[in-house]
Amino acid sequence: MAEIVAGPEGIAMGVQRLAGGRLVAFPTETVYGLGADALNADAVQRVFALKGRPSTNPLIVHVSGEEMARTLTRHWPEEATKLAKAFWPGPLTLVLPKVDHVPDAVTAGGDTVAVRCPEHPMALALIEALGSPIVGPSANPSGYISPTTPEHVRDAFASEDLLVLDGGHCRAGIESTVLDLSSETPRVLRPGVLGAHRIGEVLGCEVEVVESSAVDTNARSPGLIGAHYQPRTPTRLVSQEELANAPSTAVLIAWSIQTHPCGGELIAISDRLAGFAQSIYRALHEGDRAKGTQIWVENPPEANDDDERAILYALLERLARATHA
Ligand code: AMP
Ligand code: MG
Repeated sequence: MAEIVAGPEGIAMGVQRLAGGRLVAFPTETVYGLGADALNADAVQRVFALKGRPSTNPLIVHVSGEEMARTLTRHWPEEATKLAKAFWPGPLTLVLPKVDHVPDAVTAGGDTVAVRCPEHPMALALIEALGSPIVGPSANPSGYISPTTPEHVRDAFASEDLLVLDGGHCRAGIESTVLDLSSETPRVLRPGVLGAHRIGEVLGCEVEVVESSAVDTNARSPGLIGAHYQPRTPTRLVSQEELANAPSTAVLIAWSIQTHPCGGELIAISDRLAGFAQSIYRALHEGDRAKGTQIWVENPPEANDDDERAILYALLERLARATHA
């Protein structure tokens, strides 16, 4: 049975399990991670097996800070120091050339490793007490909605012997920004709440954002993308106007109205983008449990500044994939 444990007792149990090559789910400021000792190839393989994650999808390694990150990378450029100083602990993952002792399973056989220092006291305490970096993909079956509460993790892996550390609800609510520093120009590979403009300010240069075909900010509609972050209930992204046509069997996730037009279920979400990002996965989990025939998600509200534009871009990428047929 998956078990939720809080406090120092939870950390102590977690460290013991990780040291023995077992898995422990832990909170971060983005989403809950499925942790394993990053330098133990067998433990890392267990993460792929439990999630059903394709072995071609590399894992992010969580570290306690720059010093630990440097033990995993062959080359640590000046840019990495500047970014770690500015944003760590925080929701920024850096991709850099790896050293040989990082297991191939972690990097999907590639020559680079993704590293991040999470901004959560329990995650940091766990890494520090273990004295070793921890891989931490989202603690959900591959392709399903990411977890932002310990209950999401427990329910997803109910029959497994899995320890889940209770760190409350995740603050940011969506996954980290992934920045590739291994090539000529810094490139954002995955958008997150930390925008490319903030990274550019610190580096004093342009930061390329790899166009995600998932995001069409004009039409706000899914492009040709891979499905991910998906509820089991068919899910659609709809405009404010379309909400009025929702059948009573559609569960609504909405910010502009408070009640369902046909008396069905409505899950209210924040009309501010940071709040929307913080609770979107929780709302999708709740929508999935509600057992409607569909989930309709209202398009997120407008962005008012560059920070909000970054959050909106990241949100639209997640929502496009969550609603991809
Ligand atoms: P998840 O752990 O599910 O949040 O996904 C981790 C993300 O980081 C995925 O999009 C991976 O493709 C990406 N990632 C991890 N390691 C690397 C790497 N070495 N190079 C590029 N992307 C990476
Ligand atoms: Mg994931």
